[in-house]
Amino acid sequence: MLWPADEPWPVCTVPHKRGSGFRHADVLRGREILAAAWRRDPRSGPNAEEGEELRGFRRGRHAPHLADTDPVPLLAATQLYRRDVPGLPDTGEGDLLQVFWCGFERHGDSRHEPYVRLRWRRAGDVGVPLAAAPVPEVVGREELVPSPCVVHPEEVVEYPYFAALAPPLRERIAAWEGPKDAGDRYISELSTAPGWKTGGHLAWPLTGPRPVPCSVCGTELAPLLTVDRTEWDPSTTSWIPYEDRPDADTLWAGTPTEVSPGRGRLTVAVCPRDAGHPMDLIVQ
Ligand SMILES: [Zn+2]
Ligand SMILES: [Zn+2]
Repeated sequence: MLWPADEPWPVCTVPHKRGSGFRHADVLRGREILAAAWRRDPRSGPNAEEGEELRGFRRGRHAPHLADTDPVPLLAATQLYRRDVPGLPDTGEGDLLQVFWCGFERHGDSRHEPYVRLRWRRAGDVGVPLAAAPVPEVVGREELVPSPCVVHPEEVVEYPYFAALAPPLRERIAAWEGPKDAGDRYISELSTAPGWKTGGHLAWPLTGPRPVPCSVCGTELAPLLTVDRTEWDPSTTSWIPYEDRPDADTLWAGTPTEVSPGRGRLTVAVCPRDAGHPMDLIVQ
């Protein structure tokens, strides 16, 4: 993250247990071991020595000294420059969007919600940058630790989720697809892209569409960033990015970040009228 060395790193102080889980360092080391073993020989797993080390990376009470409101560093989830992602909204606050989340999903009324923070900044204003991002000692879920990745954005056209369309249009699409698919092809291949993305339309596979009004002004919130468990799955191969197609069958090709927030897909939705209005998190 491009972060000024003299600016406090974002933290979570929301009350929740933060001493038990996986050591952040173990999560990264475990991935390193598995990747090395796979590079050596995709058919055989880790060797005995590696297996022994992996077995030591267990969930446990690794940071018993942490009280329930002690500040813990948020994980750096992503940063996007408008020069790379021209569709990023212009909030007037800068050309760089930085996204952070807590390593635990124990927030909100349900006590199972993620905690996400956004920071817009002007990249040119950062003087001396921070050399290394602070990390929490322990995370509640391994799938909240992103593996370092570089963004190669591809611009695609999306259409609204099938169930969000007016009934006459749904009928026309179903007629065009034929009785066997009844919306499947539109949903999987043509409307909403899987994977990490900005903008686009919300997919509602879990709950069906619902309005997401801004809590301040009532304007319908717009998806800013969607984080997804996989960049594609067997039903959505039409969305495989061009540069990934030659290696699409390689292990991890479709899961470069190794992140899976909530039930797998998390959208940060923001007010299109005022970036200062509260965001909402949609898990589908
Ligand atoms: Zn937290
Ligand atoms: Zn608003």
